[in-house]
Amino acid sequence: MNAAASPSIFKVALPLPLPLLFDYLAAPNAQNPLPGSRVLAPFGKRKLVGIVVRVAEHSELPREKLQELAAYLDDGEPVFDRHLLDLLDWCAHYYKHPIGEVFHNALPPALRKVGGFVPEPLLQFCLTGEGRARLEQPVGRAVAQYRVLEALQNGPLVPRQLAASARQASRVLPRLQEQGWVKREPWHAPMPRFRDGPDLNNAQAAVLEEIQAQIIGFSCHLVDGITGSGKTEIYLRLLQQVLASGKQALVLVPEIGLTPQLVRRFSERLGLEPAVSHSGIAAGQRLRVWADAGRGNASLVIGTRSALFLPLPNPGLIIMDECHDSSFKQQDGFRFAARDVAVKRAFDLDIPIVLGTATPSLETLHNAETGRYRWHRLRTRATGAAQPAWRVLDLRHRPATAGLCRETLEAMQSTLDRAEQVLVFLNRRGYAPVLLCHECGWHAACQRCDANMTWHRGGNCLICHHCEHRHEVPRFCPECSADALQGAGEGTEQLERMLAGRFSGFPLYRVDRDQVRRKGDLDRIVEAVRSGEPCILVGTQMLAKGHHFPKVTLVVVVSLDQALYSADFRAIERMGQLLMQVAGRAGREQHPGEVILQTHHPDHPVLERLFRSGYECFARELLEERKLAGLPPFSHQAVLRAEATDRTPVLEFLNHAARAWPNDGKGLFGPFPALMEKKGGRFRWYLLAQDVHRSTLQSGLDRWLPLVRGLSQSRQVRWSVDVDPLEF
Ligand code: ADP
Ligand code: ZN
Ligand code: ZN
Repeated sequence: MNAAASPSIFKVALPLPLPLLFDYLAAPNAQNPLPGSRVLAPFGKRKLVGIVVRVAEHSELPREKLQELAAYLDDGEPVFDRHLLDLLDWCAHYYKHPIGEVFHNALPPALRKVGGFVPEPLLQFCLTGEGRARLEQPVGRAVAQYRVLEALQNGPLVPRQLAASARQASRVLPRLQEQGWVKREPWHAPMPRFRDGPDLNNAQAAVLEEIQAQIIGFSCHLVDGITGSGKTEIYLRLLQQVLASGKQALVLVPEIGLTPQLVRRFSERLGLEPAVSHSGIAAGQRLRVWADAGRGNASLVIGTRSALFLPLPNPGLIIMDECHDSSFKQQDGFRFAARDVAVKRAFDLDIPIVLGTATPSLETLHNAETGRYRWHRLRTRATGAAQPAWRVLDLRHRPATAGLCRETLEAMQSTLDRAEQVLVFLNRRGYAPVLLCHECGWHAACQRCDANMTWHRGGNCLICHHCEHRHEVPRFCPECSADALQGAGEGTEQLERMLAGRFSGFPLYRVDRDQVRRKGDLDRIVEAVRSGEPCILVGTQMLAKGHHFPKVTLVVVVSLDQALYSADFRAIERMGQLLMQVAGRAGREQHPGEVILQTHHPDHPVLERLFRSGYECFARELLEERKLAGLPPFSHQAVLRAEATDRTPVLEFLNHAARAWPNDGKGLFGPFPALMEKKGGRFRWYLLAQDVHRSTLQSGLDRWLPLVRGLSQSRQVRWSVDVDPLEF
C-alpha cells in the first residue's frame, strides 16, 4: 500500500477508565513516533500523556474524525520496549483493566506528567593515562589538583562522590580536564567485587546446582525453605553468577521496610550498590533507577511490586522473596498478582525465576505439586540451630493479664533472666479493640463501617481501623450517661503498658503502625535489638516479616483465634503462614527457641496438624479441602465488585449484571455482601464468576464486561473487576 495515500494510525493508551486504545494521526511535520513512546494527545478539551502501543494502517473511525497528536514527549528511545508493551497489553487483557491505566501505572510517576523526561545518563570522572603519569610526579604546588587525581586513582567517581572525597574538586576540575588528566564519560556500574559467604551445606548446594543447571532459558523454581534455612545465601550465589556474566537481575520483596536490611547484605556480599525502587523513594530517584535499569546500567535492582515493570534490556534472573506475601497482590486500581506476572515476564524474557518462601500459598504449592514450578525443599536451619519448640497454652479457665496468662508471663521472666530476648506478637494495635459501657452494654461502633472503634488510650481517641475515622473518647456513656466505660480485649498499646510495668528493668520496644511511622524508626529498633541486650519486643505483623533477631528465644503469640471463625476461605491458610513466620523469629542462631501459642482451641485439628507435622502437611491438607470444595487453585475466580452509599443501586446493578452473564447463568454466583458489607460509608457487594478452566472464565468475562459497562445502572455505583481475587 502506498504510505503517502494512507498515513499511519497511532493506537494510543490514554489514562482513562476505558478498555480501548485511541486512534490518532501523526503530528504535522514530525517523524513518526515509535511504539512505546510517550505522546501528548488531544482529548476533548484536555491534552493527555499517552503511550503509542501500535501503529496500524486502519482505523474504525472515518479519517476525518481522527485528530493529530499534539506532541511527542520522548525524542530518543521509547520509554517501553517491545517486551514491556506486550507484557502490559497482556496484563490489561488478563486482569480486565483499562489498558491506558495499566500503562500509566507502569510508568514512574515523574514520566506520567507532560514535563517529565528520561534523564541523561549520569556522568563520571576518570583518570586518563596522562593523569596517571602526573600522579607519579611529586605533588608540587597544585595541591588541590593533586588531591582530585588521588581520589580518582581507584576508579571513576560520579560528581557527588568526587566532591565528597576531594573538597576542591568542582573548582579545579575544569583545569584538570584542560590538561587532559581527567575526562568525563557516561556513568556505568562498576564491576561487582564478590565476597565469600559461608560454604553452602549439602541441601543448599543441591538446590543451587539444580537451579544453576537451568540458568539459561526460562525455568521457574520454588525454593520452599523454612526461615533460616539459607534461601538468601542461595539467591546470593545465583546473583553472583548472573552479574558476573554481565546480565541484570531483579529482586522483588514484599515490603519497603525489608529493603534496607537486604540492600546492606547484598551490597556487602556482592560489592555493588543495588538500585532500589519502591513507592517510598522520591520521584526523582525512582526515575533515575528506571533510566539506569533501562540503559542496562543498574545491574541489580531491588524493589517492591511496582518494580516488576522496570525496563531490563539485558535480563538474566528474577527473584521474588517471600512470594506468599499478600502485598504482592495490588488490591486497588490495576489489580494484579505480581507473582504471576513475574512468572509470565520471566517466561517472555526466557530467563529463570526463583520464588522463595517458608510458607508457600496453596496456589504456589499446587503449582509445585503439578510440576509447573520446580520444587526445592530446605527443611533444616542453615546454622544448625534447632527449630523452635511449640507450646500450646489453653486460655480456657486461665485468668489473663492484658491477654497474657500466668505461664506465659513466667516463661518471659525466665527468658529475660537468662539475658535473652522475648517477642510478643499481637495483630491488633491500639489499647482495646472495643470500648463498652458496663451499665447498659453500649459500645463504640463506627458509623461508617460494620466495625468497632478501637480505643487508643495514649491519644485519648477512638479510631476506626477500616476508615481512619476518629473522635474523642466520651467521658460518660452516650447512651445511659453512666461513668462506666471500659475497654474489652487488648491491643499492643495495652500489652506495652502492662509489660513495661511488670518487667520495668528491661527495655521494651513496640512495633506497630502507630509507633513506627517514620523511615528509619524500625531500623533503629532492629539495630537495638540486634545488639543483643535482653529486651521485650511487642508488635503486629510488622514484626513477623523477614527481620533477623538472633537473640530472641521466646516468641509469644497472644492469640490468632479470630481466623478459626472467619468466613474467608483463605483465613486459615493465612493464619498458618503468619504463625510460621512469627515462629521463625525465634532462636535463629545458637540459642534454641520456644514458641508459645495461647488459644481457646488447643485441640483444633488444623492447629494440631501445623504443630505436629509442619506447614507443608498443614497446607496439603487444606489443599485437599479446597479440592473437595472446588475452590482455587482447583477453580479460577473473578469478582465484579460494586459499592455506593446506598445498598439499593448496588444490588440493582449487580442483579442486572448477573442477568447479562453469557453462560446461561452457569458459573456466576451472588450478589453477596462483602465480608465487611459497610465500609467508609459505602455498601459493598459482589458477583463471583468461577470456572474450572481459566480459558472459559476469561472468555466469559470478555463477553460479559462490555454488556456490564453498557448497563445504565453501572453509572449509579463504583464498580471494578478483580481477576484471581484474594479478598472478598
Ligand atoms: P533464609 O533466607 O532462608 O531465612 P538466610 O540465608 O538468611 O536464610 O540464612 C540464615 C542465617 O544462616 C544467616 O545468618 C546466614 O548467614 C546463615 N547461613 C546461611 N547458610 C549458611 C551456611 N551454609 N553455613 C553457615 N551459615 C549459613
Ligand atoms: Zn451505658
Ligand atoms: Zn470506619
